[in-house]
Amino acid sequence: MIYLLPILGVLLSFIFVYFTKPKKKDRFKLLLAFSGAFLLALTIFELLPEVYEHSNARSIGIFIMLGILLQIFLEFFSKGAEHGHVHLSYENNTFPWLLFGSLSIHSLLEGIPLSENTGIVYGILIHKIAIAIILSIFLLGTKLRPIISGFFILLFSLMTPLGTYLATHFSFVKDNLVQLNAIVIGVLLHISTVILFESSEGHKFNLRKLIVITLGITIAYFL
Ligand SMILES: [Zn+2]
Ligand SMILES: [Zn+2]
Repeated sequence: MIYLLPILGVLLSFIFVYFTKPKKKDRFKLLLAFSGAFLLALTIFELLPEVYEHSNARSIGIFIMLGILLQIFLEFFSKGAEHGHVHLSYENNTFPWLLFGSLSIHSLLEGIPLSENTGIVYGILIHKIAIAIILSIFLLGTKLRPIISGFFILLFSLMTPLGTYLATHFSFVKDNLVQLNAIVIGVLLHISTVILFESSEGHKFNLRKLIVITLGITIAYFL
């Protein structure tokens, strides 16, 4: 399940976008806001207490900050695709390597905490679906051939399970799991707060968005 859900979530999202061809990304803003709140709440409820239990608080803090910095660095290359806000304009028909590379590192890291914390899998899944829909709309709107976009999405879908696999089978990852989880917490804190920040245009009061965010937090609490 832990391996299959992230792959299916991404691939089905691409197929959905390919066949329904939604023109507007705005329709998915609520889904994105929900995914941000849900992921943030799960990170705080599930992942954060665990790393502090297993290691000294001061060094954990450093690794969480490193995760935040790493995500900021990755977004120089992805222009924010991890938080579903494609600031990128892409006119080429060649494979977007920089976007792919930065998204892959991000997704691989996300797979690591899944190896021992199963609750977070739903947070990652909803996050993947929201990102995959927005990424698919973007990719299919570029000059890339649809088959190349599909290939991009297929490889992208495999990265999170690969991270989980490495965390389960490779001793280097297993031995440093607490530190790596702390880095992932930093990554998730950064993207989920940016999602919430960017989802409130001009800080106008939006009841639907507020309900969706409250729902995300509540569901995460009872999961
Ligand atoms: Zn992600
Ligand atoms: Zn952004």
